[in-house]
Amino acid sequence: MDTYEELMEVYKDISIIGEIGSQLSWDQNTYMPKKAAAMRGGQGAFLSKLFHRKITDPKVGKLISTLEGENLDQNKNAVVREIRRIYDRKTSIPEELEAEIASLEPLSMQTWVEAKKKGDFKIFAPHLEKMLELKKEYADKVGYPNIPYDALLEDFEPYTRTSQVTEVFERLRKKLVPIIETIVSSGKEIISFSGNYPIASQEEYYKKILTDMGYDFEGGRLDPTEHPFTIGSGDDTRITTHYYENDPRPALFSCIHEGGHALYEQGFLREHMHSPLGEFCSLGIHESQSRMWENIIGRSLPFWKHYYPGMKNAFPSLSSMDLDTFYRAINQVRPSLIRVEADEATYNLHILIRFEIEIDIFNGKLDVNEIPQAWNDKYEQYLGIRPENDGVGCLQDVHWSMGAFGYFPTYSLGNLYSSQFFDRMTKDIDVKDLMGRGELRPILSWLRTNIHHRGKLYPASELVKVVTGRSLNEDHFIEHLKSKYGKIYDVSF
Ligand code: ZN
Repeated sequence: MDTYEELMEVYKDISIIGEIGSQLSWDQNTYMPKKAAAMRGGQGAFLSKLFHRKITDPKVGKLISTLEGENLDQNKNAVVREIRRIYDRKTSIPEELEAEIASLEPLSMQTWVEAKKKGDFKIFAPHLEKMLELKKEYADKVGYPNIPYDALLEDFEPYTRTSQVTEVFERLRKKLVPIIETIVSSGKEIISFSGNYPIASQEEYYKKILTDMGYDFEGGRLDPTEHPFTIGSGDDTRITTHYYENDPRPALFSCIHEGGHALYEQGFLREHMHSPLGEFCSLGIHESQSRMWENIIGRSLPFWKHYYPGMKNAFPSLSSMDLDTFYRAINQVRPSLIRVEADEATYNLHILIRFEIEIDIFNGKLDVNEIPQAWNDKYEQYLGIRPENDGVGCLQDVHWSMGAFGYFPTYSLGNLYSSQFFDRMTKDIDVKDLMGRGELRPILSWLRTNIHHRGKLYPASELVKVVTGRSLNEDHFIEHLKSKYGKIYDVSF
């Protein structure tokens, strides 16, 4: 076995540990009994320890160093670069710290669920405090170029710095706020849904759309959960949704959204299984896939010209709603409290709020007990509304209970990347015509070739340049909003 093959053997073991962790996590979020949380915590800690030992074995360091001295091709170079990145990070974190974070997670998440239900931040605060303490220690151990937040962002958006994100988000906010103000002041009425949308019918029709998109149910499944998510990869990529019987929209769009994530995971080349080349590039790129399907494709008029007759067929409650009304109903812009229910225009403001709060926490400018106040003030300032309780305020998202600080900005990066990719796609194929005919496979093929098959070959900032010829920017996203909502709301920006 040569040095490269030897390194790939180690990486295969690490990948498999990750796969097992995914299955445990899926179970924890779907059907795990309540009392099992502590046991699952122990299992998570064990896997985390095993992962840590495998990757930090000094033998791995030697293999990487040897390969770095060799003349490798582009693929192998990327693989060694990625394994080096993980190796350096993991060798700088004590095994006990990793295990402590992993074992805290299930109980922290369970407490968060209870606190959210009661709308009381105080119930969750001690767990969050502990989690933050551990994550601050984590950031110090792995190190960072400028501020501690860089270390956390690196876990989700490798090679991207907080300062770069801040810069593009600042520009985004300046352009976004007046657009939202113009839309809101246009005074167009809110269209609400009435009637009943049986869960069985929702499941059936959304499964049809997912199948048309190219989601492979032989290598996946759809289950109901509190919060929709996608987990797994390759031939075991599962998605979840949350159904509401009085409104078909949340489950519809979360299915399309998670379907976009799942298509990415199902779309890696099988020859790259258990290699960084068969893994997603960054969470921002991951999110670009889900958002393109959900917002740019799934909320477009051509898409619904094709799918609305089937939708009406599935739900008699829609019989008196015409296509144009439905199209406007799924594209309403209004400031709201809940991120996951936000429209594509206001959504990014929800992210900016979280991003700014996280940076303040890790820069030591904000204490845990000050979070609810800071949160509510920012909602009032950016969106003009104030949460009545913490359940619809700072407790609404699961991320902090899992210790996933640095995750939120990837959602907005996804919005920006998705518009950039889509703009490029429309130059290569007639997307509008394909959507209008319900022919979604050529869209998937384009994504497969340009994004999915490349795995971690390039860092996100490189990938977007290779595919579109331009660096990360907000221009295409802003253009998308202006041209779409200008027509819907009959306004000019
Ligand atoms: Zn997503």
